[in-house]
Amino acid sequence: MPWRPWWKPGSMSRTDGGPPPPQPGCGLLPERRLFGIAACAGVAIGPVFRTTEAPPQVTRHKIHASDIQAEGARLDAAVLRSRKQLMKLRSRLAVLPEESQGEIAPLLDAYIQMLGPSRLLRGVRTRIEERLVSAETAVMEEANAIAATLTAASDDTHAARQADEVREIGRRLVRNLTRAPFRSFAGAVQGAVLIAESLRPSDAALIDPARIAGVATEEGGTDGHTAILLRALGIPSVLGVPGLLSGLHAGVTAVVDGVVGTVILNPDNASLSGARRAVASFARDRQRLSRLRRLASVTLDGEAVSLQANLELPIELPMVAQSGANGIGLLRSEFLFMNRDTVPTEDEQARSYRNVVETMSGDTVTIRVLDWGGEKEIEALVTAGMVPELIDSNPALGLRGIRLLLRQPDLFETQLAAILRAAHAGPVRVLLPMVTNVAEIRAAKAIYRRVADRLRERGAALPATLPPLGIMVETPGAALCADVLAAEAEFFAIGTNDLCMYALAVDRGAMEVAELYDPLHPGVLRLIRMTITGAASHRIPVSVCGEMAANPDMTPLLLGLGLRSFSTNASAVPRVKQAVRGTTIGDCERLTSHVMQQSDSEQIRDALKTFGHSSAY
Ligand code: PEP
Ligand code: MG
Repeated sequence: MPWRPWWKPGSMSRTDGGPPPPQPGCGLLPERRLFGIAACAGVAIGPVFRTTEAPPQVTRHKIHASDIQAEGARLDAAVLRSRKQLMKLRSRLAVLPEESQGEIAPLLDAYIQMLGPSRLLRGVRTRIEERLVSAETAVMEEANAIAATLTAASDDTHAARQADEVREIGRRLVRNLTRAPFRSFAGAVQGAVLIAESLRPSDAALIDPARIAGVATEEGGTDGHTAILLRALGIPSVLGVPGLLSGLHAGVTAVVDGVVGTVILNPDNASLSGARRAVASFARDRQRLSRLRRLASVTLDGEAVSLQANLELPIELPMVAQSGANGIGLLRSEFLFMNRDTVPTEDEQARSYRNVVETMSGDTVTIRVLDWGGEKEIEALVTAGMVPELIDSNPALGLRGIRLLLRQPDLFETQLAAILRAAHAGPVRVLLPMVTNVAEIRAAKAIYRRVADRLRERGAALPATLPPLGIMVETPGAALCADVLAAEAEFFAIGTNDLCMYALAVDRGAMEVAELYDPLHPGVLRLIRMTITGAASHRIPVSVCGEMAANPDMTPLLLGLGLRSFSTNASAVPRVKQAVRGTTIGDCERLTSHVMQQSDSEQIRDALKTFGHSSAY
């Protein structure tokens, strides 16, 4: 009997009540168990939705002869980017069983070859120059023409496969040329498991958590912004899974286990029942934790600890309300700028910020001004000519955060004006990202005051005293100079994600070095301690808003270091509160003084584990 997917993609709408219950492996397709990085806890079972299926939309676009050179340069950049992506995939094949390597490697080699001096690229360039079409038009037309010639010449499977390969490389080039959101997820059935080669943060921002049950990707690391967003949306996810896409059929059942970091494709009966039990146990756990919402966040010896939420997308606001968070400790405003063609105006921004401030009804909202750069690409800024193309720079060390804002005063002033207008509706703080020196704070302050004066002249309603202006401490340079920066900043928010990345020289979003990305490295802990000491020297408040704050195993350590203010994704708030309520500051301080004497993070991890077992939570 020929194999047919048990699930017909697209045949159900949301109101159908979800997909039929998942079926165990159909027998013809064996179960495949793959391993990756656990990015968001939880277990999802559902039909696979592959994001690479639909080809990117290209409308035929003519150019002027004077644009030929520029189109050629765009093509070169897209070829370079595509090659890098494929080489990266190629370099990771070693972790797969030999027979899988044997299957996938030749395919990747064929793709890489087509990105060299190939008939495809020669044809694309000729089309740009002679037919005067845009690079993406030329790529699609040339790839389709070659594929058609191949299949017309022969009807054997080899020719058909080659034609598919040419079309696939064409799609990759077009994706990299258009930089459009990787994929629309509209075609996914409710309860689907989204599977992709990679997801950019802006792609992840488009995921509807009510529709997508789980996510798995071939690329990605634990504290990249995609992982952060997936946690914010509470979608069980496993990233960095080598071999995930090879031979994958849409519609087969997948189990994503975001606790252990596995993806099971075509699960057998035993795996499916195990996954169902895990789903039920998670639901019970969530129910139990939700009861903590109304309880105070205090330690056993009566020390109050502020637990706030990080916010990226408006869709998270109801989750923040349910979590029991007492404010927004980090509003990552860059998501307001993503997935749109133009930069949001002052009015648009003011409306969005005011909406959050009003929803938080009196609880403080800390709005971080645009942290562009690193892996956070924003097409609207590229289109507006406000930022360089990311392709050939080292983006994490480049024009990120405050550096860009100081070079684009219009962008900065517009955002500050919008925030100040929203501050009329409730308590707000303004947070500057990626600060490394005092001059940046001083320059930002001068602009901030100027914007406030201008708004007052315009007759805008502003709070009597300007909202505090603070900084992210997320580079080693800032942490080492925390005492100096504390003289200028009104508060600190410790960004442990970047702090860890820059301190250890490990890309937070890369899977190849994921095991080296270690917030418990003694070097990172010393930088955190220096930051807290620096803040204390000028009596300014300090909070922690990186992913470390969301890990309840690390709560006692952070309390022992002196932190009393945490900001985490909304779903982590109850767990952290549970950790706070189960310990005393005295015990935390004893733990921390022991931890700070250890020479490596394994010992530190053991100490935290032992502490966790011995304490009440
Ligand atoms: C951080 O770096 O820890 C942080 C909170 O900022 P982001 O994750 O947005 O870079
Ligand atoms: Mg950061």
